[in-house]
Amino acid sequence: MNKETLKKVYETIDGYSDAFVELQTELTAIPALGPTNDGEGETAKAEFLEKWIGDNVAFDSIEHYDAPDDRVPAGARPNIIAIKKGKSDKKRIWVMGHLDIVPPGELNLWDTDPYTVAIKDGKVFGRGVEDNQHGIVTPLFALKAIQEHGFELPYDVGVVLVADEETGSEYGIQHILKETDIFKKEDLIIVPDAGVPDGSMIEVAEKSIYWLKIKTKGKQCHASTPAAGINAHRAAAHLITRLDSLYEIFDQKDKVFDPPISTFEPTKKDANVPNINTIPGDDVIYIDMRVLPGIPLDDVHAEIEKMTDEIEKKFGVTITLSAPQREDAAPATPADAPVVKALAQSIKDVYGVVARAMGIGGGTVAAFFRRRGLNAVVWSRIDELAHQPNEYTHIENMVGDAKVYANLFLQE
Ligand SMILES: [Zn+2]
Repeated sequence: MNKETLKKVYETIDGYSDAFVELQTELTAIPALGPTNDGEGETAKAEFLEKWIGDNVAFDSIEHYDAPDDRVPAGARPNIIAIKKGKSDKKRIWVMGHLDIVPPGELNLWDTDPYTVAIKDGKVFGRGVEDNQHGIVTPLFALKAIQEHGFELPYDVGVVLVADEETGSEYGIQHILKETDIFKKEDLIIVPDAGVPDGSMIEVAEKSIYWLKIKTKGKQCHASTPAAGINAHRAAAHLITRLDSLYEIFDQKDKVFDPPISTFEPTKKDANVPNINTIPGDDVIYIDMRVLPGIPLDDVHAEIEKMTDEIEKKFGVTITLSAPQREDAAPATPADAPVVKALAQSIKDVYGVVARAMGIGGGTVAAFFRRRGLNAVVWSRIDELAHQPNEYTHIENMVGDAKVYANLFLQE
């Protein structure tokens, strides 16, 4: 691809500013809430988008992988895979966006109606404009611009529109991955569902999440005669300080992450006795652990059990462990994977920003690809307003991200 080609495509995308806002306005007016959020699903929004696509982008194939779900009037949750053919199908470039939104939350926290797009200071406001319509409209307008000039794509480009991202993805990408093996190891997969304001973060990895509830049982008694009971609170306090040694036992570092280490933090504590002169017979504490991929959570758990055994013996208490959340991290996308390099190149060309591969502490939908050995990254240039009131995205960033996709789609 030469500079002249790109310049023409960029100019065309610059001319789409109003069209971006128009499409965002129409999408925002169709609230696509899943049944878990008391909604009717994503069908109306999917139908509207398919019509828009039919009028604007000449895909070579559009296929549905709808997931049956009798909780919604349509009886299924829409999942769409649209492919535009390139000169070669040796690899494909995929961009996956999700159709569903989260509810607006408390309406009095919004300055404007969440389902009516408002424009202010170069931003569009409304529920879903960033999460995840920003990620849907940008690759579509990139393809439209390339098509307007009649430029051929070097490789196939696929746009994936999924349901149910906000409530677990069972009826969305998980369903697609069960139904088809269309995604290949050599493909470049981009999920524009998180990002930073300058677009410099290409998310490639995540830590395992392990929340542990620790219940300590002793024996309640009057505080003036402690020997008559067993102080569960004291035993739990000793355990908390002992848990700090997890930082030394699992002290591996990975510079992709910030912080680059596993974290083991005591957080919540349930109330025990209401009065000062009672020895508590029960104590409940919680720890939030974010563990680097490569350290099995079973190993972490085994170390914690050793510590609880010691505390049980020393204080005569009984300790039980349970896990409100436990999710082993998917294998990371390598920081030098082709998708990272190609995307970083396009980001640099368009924004002049040096992007780098990074890991985050929580789970993303890209993990479903990574678990299958597919190299997916999460990227966009957004202020990260997802799920907040007055959600917005910059018009400038929609235009810019569409250019990044155009650049990427045209890379030889
Ligand atoms: Zn999202």
